[in-house]
Amino acid sequence: MSHDLKKYSRITQSIHAGQHVDEATGAVAPPIFQTSTFAFSDCRQGADRFAGAEDGFIYTRMGNPTVARLEEAVATLEGGAAGLATGSGMGAFCTVIFALMNAGDHLVGTSSVYGPSRVVMERDFSRFGIESTFVDTSDLDAVRAALRPSTTLVFVETPANPTVVLSDLQAIAEIAHEHGALMLVDNTFASPILQRPFELGTDIVMHSMTKFINGHTDVVAGMIVPSTDELRARIKPAHSYLGACMDPHQAWLVLRGLKTLAMRVRTAQDNARRVAPFLEAHPKVEWVRYPGLDSHPQHELAERQMDGPGSLISFEVKGGIEAGARLLDNVELMTLAVSLGGIETLIQHPPSMTHAAMSREDRLEAGITDGLVRVSIGCEDADDLIGDLEQAFAKV
Ligand SMILES: *Cc1c(COP(=O)(O)O)cnc(C)c1O
Repeated sequence: MSHDLKKYSRITQSIHAGQHVDEATGAVAPPIFQTSTFAFSDCRQGADRFAGAEDGFIYTRMGNPTVARLEEAVATLEGGAAGLATGSGMGAFCTVIFALMNAGDHLVGTSSVYGPSRVVMERDFSRFGIESTFVDTSDLDAVRAALRPSTTLVFVETPANPTVVLSDLQAIAEIAHEHGALMLVDNTFASPILQRPFELGTDIVMHSMTKFINGHTDVVAGMIVPSTDELRARIKPAHSYLGACMDPHQAWLVLRGLKTLAMRVRTAQDNARRVAPFLEAHPKVEWVRYPGLDSHPQHELAERQMDGPGSLISFEVKGGIEAGARLLDNVELMTLAVSLGGIETLIQHPPSMTHAAMSREDRLEAGITDGLVRVSIGCEDADDLIGDLEQAFAKV
């Protein structure tokens, strides 16, 4: 199958991208090239491959045919120039920082990003002289005010984790570019089905494919998608040598999960569209944050920037942290676990779990209140999910 997938919708692309029939055998499912190294026909060929004069595989850390299919698939879905697969979402983020930033450079990022992304900047990359400032990127003035002459990268996560606050990608891309900085977007929460940052001016997209793209809570994986060949060339050496590479078997599992991405995203979203109003109407709930609700402060931006509000909901139970813990201890169908974007519903308490490494002060500033509960709605029956919350609330 060599037809141009660009003419098809993202839904069709998620099923067919990277999934061409194997030329050697006719296999419809992708072969797993479980090999660390690739033989050269002669010395000349080996030298040409290392010199980049001939395309072809050398060593799996630098590239592998099964991994390449997944890279092609996600690059197609995002509309980027290429994909660079990594062993985890954090591997993707750290590879981009390592590749593009130098001592003395400065990053401006979303304050309520995925916890470890902020921690590695503030605790680890800072040791090498790479500075960072995290601000509420939903406030464009705050983004402008945080820029320094040394700012080379603006890093945005939208919807943000775990607050589900949105940032205006097009406006921030303009601010970044005017300043001469690049923009990196963590598109994990929305997935390419609901949000395409390149259409809004972003330079690099990253994913934790552990979440929606794989979708089955059984693989940790990441992806970097540069918008241009030039950016790919700048990131590729770090991708090849830093070691955050992907294993072929891991790539095969993610290729398998990817085929149902559109279906899963839409089913989970339909469920969330029912669970969010249920929570909002519940007398024991203080507030609910879901981009699909009129009450979301950026409901209008969600409609403009995304193809749907997704399936992540945050809320606070009346009675704060203790009442929230009682709810989490009493759900039966929902699983008390971190991570998100899987086929099953996961519920967790960010202040004591995913965002525990941040100081309480930083958390509160980022909108992560002590009693905040985050739920990643899955693909179960919506009535069963609401019933589970009902019985758990009865025990609060
Ligand atoms: C999980 C997550 C990451 C980190 O990905 P891993 O695959 O766990 O390393 C980064 N960003 C977001 C938004 C995430 O949810």
